[in-house]
Order: sequence, then structure tokens, then C-alpha cells
Amino acid sequence: MLTPHVPEELLARYDRPGPRYTSYPTAPSWSNEFGPTDHAASLGRAAADAGTPLSLYVHIPFCTSLCWYCGCSVQITQRKEKGSRYVDTVIAEAELARRLLGDADRPVLQHHWGGGTPTFLEPDDLVRLSAGLNAVFPLADGAEVSIEVDPRVTSRAQLEALRAAGFNRISMGVQDLDPKVQQAIHRIQPVEMTRDLVVAARELGFESVNLDVVYGLPHQTPDSFGASIDAILELGPDRLACYGYAHVPWLKKNQRVIDEATLPVGRDKLALYLVALQKFEDAGFAAIGMDHFARPEDGLARAADQGALHRNFMGYTTQPAEDMLSFGTTAISEVAGAFAQNVKDLREYEASVERGELPVHRGMRRSPEDDARRRIILDLMCRFRLRYADHGGRDAFLSIHGDAVRSLEPMAADGLCRIDDDGITVHPIGRMLVRNLAMPFDEYLEAQRAAQRPMFSRTV
Ligand code: SF4
Repeated sequence: MLTPHVPEELLARYDRPGPRYTSYPTAPSWSNEFGPTDHAASLGRAAADAGTPLSLYVHIPFCTSLCWYCGCSVQITQRKEKGSRYVDTVIAEAELARRLLGDADRPVLQHHWGGGTPTFLEPDDLVRLSAGLNAVFPLADGAEVSIEVDPRVTSRAQLEALRAAGFNRISMGVQDLDPKVQQAIHRIQPVEMTRDLVVAARELGFESVNLDVVYGLPHQTPDSFGASIDAILELGPDRLACYGYAHVPWLKKNQRVIDEATLPVGRDKLALYLVALQKFEDAGFAAIGMDHFARPEDGLARAADQGALHRNFMGYTTQPAEDMLSFGTTAISEVAGAFAQNVKDLREYEASVERGELPVHRGMRRSPEDDARRRIILDLMCRFRLRYADHGGRDAFLSIHGDAVRSLEPMAADGLCRIDDDGITVHPIGRMLVRNLAMPFDEYLEAQRAAQRPMFSRTV
């Protein structure tokens, strides 16, 4: 399925703040009362699930310079020894989790490093971290092993070390190639830099190359952004991620440096997204949800068409791993029906692991009701089909969720989905706006909105 044509007026109507649903319940509902003991109990419960696959995520928070648009939790430093020390702590945290999980065989199907900048780490530290984690949590045959890299600071030696360590997928941040935009976001990255790294990744045998772009950045115009997208497509990625810039200077001080008068907003921002969408469609990419695109032969596109996608904190995935263990500052684990997020502060994180204590500061254990709603949202987001029969039958479903289904009727009239006696089918246009279809089933959303704090990015 290629990217459908989405009328601008429809995108404008459904461009509203909403969760990305990489978890349900979403993070604003979690509690600070959930701590290390609760996460240890989750790991204890998961110990019984021998043979069940795992996902592993590692957060590496360091960057050598700060991009002004950045919305991540980062530590700016030039001191590489901080990276070496961090590697020791992450391995120690993994060992701590392993002890609580017991020695049950839990093959890792998906192993991902994000940041920050994972390639802040020197080649030796990359190898040490990979070997340390694989010793504690061995990879399954055919596992997806992926990493996010910043082409400005990533060397061929690092890619060689990663490839030798078993990494087979790579994702590179590009954002925009226009020098004026790059200057305004304090991220100078000539196209040659990215091209060299893509070529090196291909030569070294990485199976999949993803490139990230961002729309809504200062000075972007449809013409300039279109030219950037053309050049990015020429690099030959297998997958693309296209994110909208979230300008939240009240939360992210670094964004205050950006001159708001230069930001495209409203319809101007939407026009940028539509330019990217059209170009991805022309280049033969399939839309996987709102912001991910893949070549039709790519596993992600095939899984989307077969209704076999999965979703976790890394976004869409082809790998069905129920439990996800995450290590490092701010990392979020999902184990035995509970979420647990690590502390943000590096010293606090290191001190906690040194004490032999899980560095968890908030989380939530899902109730049976949460689980039921989570399954509904996953059916809509990943399988693009919700069958009442899978959720207790039509009458039982409508007796609980009748209002939610009724609130989808205008969306059905707009062509986003079809509602019939068997359930709800998401149409191709609805896949791009699928967060809108999931929101009526989110029991916490109203209370979060009533709190009147901006929590979620817009759906466009
Ligand atoms: S490289 Fe990424 S994580 Fe680091 S400052 Fe820039 S945008 Fe933020």
C-alpha cells in the first residue's frame, strides 16, 4: 500500500494534540509512588515467562553540542570518560535486572540504542557495552539490532565496531539540509557528511538505513524543504521518519534561542508535511502510521499490510516482544504489565545502581481495564482493524465503549474508517491519522486535558 492522498482540509481538521500511544496508559498518568520495589516485583513476576522474547533498549544521554530545537533529555559534554563510566553503570543495571528476572531463557528479539547520541561512545566502549549486555541478555537468531547515530560525530571506525558487534540496522538524524535552517537550529551537517555515512553503512552490510527529517523548523518553506527531501531521497534510505517540530520553549530552555518569527506554523507547517508526503509517495514509500514511511518490500511495510505490526516505546516494530527492558537515564521499561521509568539525573542514576537499587522513579501497573483498552488501541494502531469478536463480542463491546464508537462516526463519514457489525476497519487515510481514532478509547485523556497543561504534540 502506497501513501494515500490526504486532502489538506482533512489533515487540518485532525491536527490536534494527542498521545503517540507508544504506551497505554500514557506517561502523564504514571505515578511517582511507583518505585524500585515495584519494578523489582514486575521482574519477579516476569521470571516465570521462560522462552518469551524480550526487547531491550539502552538510552545514552550524551551529546557534544546542543541543537537548539532539541526536545530530548541530554547531557552536553566533551568528556569521553563519562561515556566509559556510563557503560559500566548500564551493564551493572542490566545485571541487576537479570538477577531479579532469574535465569529463565528470555531471547532478545529486538535490541535498540537511542539518545542523546549513542555514537558519543568511543569504538571500544561501543563494543564493551554490546558485549556486556549480550552476555547478560543473549540475542535471539534473526534479532533486530539497531542504533541511532548522528552523522556529525560518527566515524567509520565506530560503524565497523557496531557491525562487528552485531548491529544490523541504523538510523541517522538529518532533519533538513538547507544551510539557513541548519544554522538556525545550531546543527551544521552538509549532505556529504550523511552521504558518506550511508555509503559506509551499506558497504559494511547494515540491512536497513533509516533517515529522520523534521518539518516545522525555522526558515523552512515548501520549496526549500522539498529540495531537502529530494536530496534525502537520493541517499536511498529504506525507511524514513518525518516528525513535526514541537516548539515548547517554556519546557525546553534551549528552544528560546530560536526566533519564533522564523517558525512556520498552522497551515504553513502543514504545507511542509504535505510536501514531504507527496515526495515520499512519488518515491514509492508506504505510510506506516503518521510519521513513518518504508519501501513496500521493507519488513515494516509488509507487517503493516498483514496487520502484524507491534508498537512499543521505539515506535512501530515487526517484532512481537511483550516485555521490554530499558537501561540508562530516563529509560522506560515495560515488564509484566507495568511501566517503570528511570531517573533523569546522571549522578542519581549512577548512585542508585552502585547501591544495587533499580534506578526507577515513576511508573504504573496496569489494571485489567487498562489492559482491555490497551488491546483495543493496539488493534487500531497496529492491525488497523478491531473485531468486536476479539473483545468479548459486539454487544459486550458496545455496552462499554458505545460512546467511543459513536464518536468515531464523523471520522467514518470523513473516510478515516468503516464501522460495521463486525467492528472497525481503519482506511489507508485513517492510518495516517490513527491517533485520532485511538483517543476516544483512552480513559485518562479527559482528565489529562482538564489539567490544562500542554502534554502532547499535535497529531500533524
Ligand atoms: S544530537 Fe539529537 S539529542 Fe543531541 S542535542 Fe541534537 S537533537 Fe538533541
